[in-house]
Amino acid sequence: MNETAFETLRFELLDYGAIARVTMSRPEVRNAQNRLMTYELDRAFQTAATDHRVRVIILAGDGPHFSAGHDLRDPKTHTAPPVNLVGGLGTGGAEGYMAGEEEVYVGMCRRWRELTKPTIAQVQGKTIAGGLMLMWVCDIIVASEDATFSDPTLAFGVNGVEWFCHPWELGPRKAKEMLFTGDSFTAAEAAALGMVNRVVPRGELADATLGLARRIATKPSFALKLAKLSVNQAVDSQGFPAAQQAAFGLHHLAHATRSETVGSERPDPQGGSGRGA
Ligand code: ZN
Repeated sequence: MNETAFETLRFELLDYGAIARVTMSRPEVRNAQNRLMTYELDRAFQTAATDHRVRVIILAGDGPHFSAGHDLRDPKTHTAPPVNLVGGLGTGGAEGYMAGEEEVYVGMCRRWRELTKPTIAQVQGKTIAGGLMLMWVCDIIVASEDATFSDPTLAFGVNGVEWFCHPWELGPRKAKEMLFTGDSFTAAEAAALGMVNRVVPRGELADATLGLARRIATKPSFALKLAKLSVNQAVDSQGFPAAQQAAFGLHHLAHATRSETVGSERPDPQGGSGRGA
């Protein structure tokens, strides 16, 4: 397999390999994340992580919008060997459902957040629900002025997207507002909250992101790794992993309740059954 050949992504090495740019390329469905894209993202990040030339990684999306979130129309016919150490995959009921989301959502997000090279999300247009997860696992977020952010999943009966870090990203009150209302936050509001680093005109987004990546790429790689670890460990020592895991448990209480009261709609080949959120 050509490690840089993908169906749902473009993988580019820029500046003689110093910068890897991973671009989600399903603009016709607003880069909705299906099962294939999930595993291709993981392979792209692994490729960038293990290529000694790569110093900084950019995650971008083609088209007018960064990400519409999880692809709820995904027939989930794509199967792949699990990359996380998850038991219970392929079993039924709540057990299998939880295992499936541990593998493709929480487990992937944890791996990608802990990738030991700087990552920058380049974000334009709408970022909805599961799209937030892709953005939030990155170290730095550069947004265009037209960018908006929302998590409307409460309408599906859950407490928010699986990678639950809304309070850490927005602060507790704005996190509640985002979840309770499902409303969109603008790029300017997100910047004021510290959720995004920079806001630039749409036409300058790619260049601004690349320029920042180039500046970071000049720094010593090992020091970048240690600085990233230090900040992540600071957040972890404030309780982030435990809070995230607790919210994920409640998320599956919600899924189980939903399955009992509404029933499941779609099979999930990674295990169990259930809906998209
Ligand atoms: Zn879920």
